[in-house]
Amino acid sequence: MVIDCHFHVDETMLELDKMIEEMDQNNVDKTALIPPFNETMYEKESTYQDNLHRLFRFLIMNFPNIGLKLYDGLVKDGYFKVNGSFKIFNEPNNDIVANAINRYPNRFLGWAAVNPTVPESVETLESYLNLPGFIGVKAHPFMHKYRIKELDFIGALCENRDIPMIIHLSSEPESYKYLPDKYPNLKIIYAHAGVPFWKSFWKYAKEKPSVYVDTSSDYLTPSIVRSVVQALGYRKVLFGCDGPYGMNKFNEYDYSEKRSWIDSLDIPQEQKEWILGKNFIDLIKSIDQSFMQNE
Ligand SMILES: [Zn+2]
Repeated sequence: MVIDCHFHVDETMLELDKMIEEMDQNNVDKTALIPPFNETMYEKESTYQDNLHRLFRFLIMNFPNIGLKLYDGLVKDGYFKVNGSFKIFNEPNNDIVANAINRYPNRFLGWAAVNPTVPESVETLESYLNLPGFIGVKAHPFMHKYRIKELDFIGALCENRDIPMIIHLSSEPESYKYLPDKYPNLKIIYAHAGVPFWKSFWKYAKEKPSVYVDTSSDYLTPSIVRSVVQALGYRKVLFGCDGPYGMNKFNEYDYSEKRSWIDSLDIPQEQKEWILGKNFIDLIKSIDQSFMQNE
């Protein structure tokens, strides 16, 4: 079974019906959905932006202190500033994910997103976690600009419920250590291979049995995906796309690209299957699996 562990629902960019069609074409059985964190965000063809992305990756890999500054500058005054300026939603709307699961219960799972700095977001979190199909919690200290410590009680909650968290890290130094050190049984996926830390984080993650990464988004490249699989091993890496971001036009999302990053890895097919779905199924095995049956 192939599961995409990281994809946002934003029907202003990609409609659910179209998503299902694309999933079918690319043999993706299920997708774990996340609400949108920002307004409609298309990619524009731009050599300048491509070069900026390349520079960013190079710096993060080789001169992380400079890279982190560039990374920090991407979020300012409530806007995400990459290839334009896009309003960030302070309180992510989990109803969007709940509705998508209702429409396609056999195809979609859900991450309940939380912003710990918004009381209402925290108060409603568990009600979403109790809905069928919701499998864990997404947190975004990068876009919502808070210190990792603010996720303390959410880490405790997820550890108690034995459900995973997926976190997109900010540039706060060594923030990837805080939750795993405090809650060793908490299962954490750091999005985009642990951006913006990569190498230093991989060294740490290798020794932490409950820490995982996903391969989603255009932050990464096939070569970074190869490096992270080499650094962590196939049991700690999960396939994801982070769509609909990266697309240029309404309803035209190319699933095959991110999928090819995994398919082209120079490892046995059996190991690819772990990355493509088995690791994820393992992470959510404590949750009621009745919704995992196909059709
Ligand atoms: Zn994402």
